[in-house]
Amino acid sequence: MPEKLSPAELLRYSRHLLIPSIGEEGQLRLKNASVLLVGCGALGSPNAMYLAAAGVGRIGLIDADVVDASNLQRQILHGESWVGKPKLESAAARLREVNPHVTLELHPVRLTPDNAMDIAAGYDVLVDGSDNFPTRFLTNDTAFFLRKPLVYGAIHRFEGQTGVFAPHLGGPCYRCMLPHLPAPGSVPSCAEAGVLGVLPGIIGSIQAMETLKLILGIGAMPLGKLTAYDALHSQFRTLTLHRDPQCRLCGEHPEISSVRNPETLAQATCTPTENSMQTITTAELRTLLAGDFQGLLIDVREPHEHAIARIEGARLIPLGTLMEHIDSLPADRDILVHCKMGMRSARAVEMLMARGFTRAKNVLGGIDAWLAEDP
Ligand SMILES: [Zn+2]
Repeated sequence: MPEKLSPAELLRYSRHLLIPSIGEEGQLRLKNASVLLVGCGALGSPNAMYLAAAGVGRIGLIDADVVDASNLQRQILHGESWVGKPKLESAAARLREVNPHVTLELHPVRLTPDNAMDIAAGYDVLVDGSDNFPTRFLTNDTAFFLRKPLVYGAIHRFEGQTGVFAPHLGGPCYRCMLPHLPAPGSVPSCAEAGVLGVLPGIIGSIQAMETLKLILGIGAMPLGKLTAYDALHSQFRTLTLHRDPQCRLCGEHPEISSVRNPETLAQATCTPTENSMQTITTAELRTLLAGDFQGLLIDVREPHEHAIARIEGARLIPLGTLMEHIDSLPADRDILVHCKMGMRSARAVEMLMARGFTRAKNVLGGIDAWLAEDP
């Protein structure tokens, strides 16, 4: 284990060394640390480049895909000349250019319940840059059983979320937030969903920052916190996540005893995030409400808006207070959410889906559309 930095390293990392809480000791911690990065795509790109640049000594990369031209709009590890070639080779070439002092370990495979424990056992921190639910459950379960911290990130269109799951250090696991896989068909494919190119740069960079903090042992770890970024409204929000005593993995009476379980063994389809959304038109809503509707209709506007116009039977829960009411909502019934035009309600549905309310739907066009078509 190296105990000193070379003159070239002292020069390269001088801006780290100037920070009193890092210094040469901190830089050596980074040099002696290892991080496993699951996926070399949109989130993997900023993670890999910043972790390599910062001098994390050993970086493991897992990816079995080849570079596609449609990746280049957001996966900044890869360039034009690498289209059609393995992502791992492209990533390695780029990262060696970023920092030749870093050791790269390439795993040209898909992470599966059969190989996850063996691969991850060799690293200090796991960073999830995957784009589908089964892999997220798998990285979570693997990190849990190996008692290693997991730095989570997910993106969709204009919104992203990130946090650190490390039940062995306190706080919840990913399953405490999302107990089950979303229902099949409730999430569009990657090709249908889309993401604005800069978004993974922001979420992935936060993941890289939390990873460095974990290794350096500085600052506060965001255990039990989910940072949600809304690009369209230029807003960061911090949501509190609680450990679920009923969690099938980290709860009081766990049912899951290995990384081979229904969620991790599910067919990994290309589903970008839990934020993908089901919708309903106001015409469909009118028909539903006229019948024997057993679900819940929520209005997430503010009280003064509700006072002006409302849909009969809707329960007013302003968006900012949604998480306070989360425990009173029925997870086993349809939850239809409306606002004025459909934007705030879309956020609400994403928040609900992230908490396992797989039957939440957004009312398209909101009460404006409802009133416009009032018969
Ligand atoms: Zn849990």
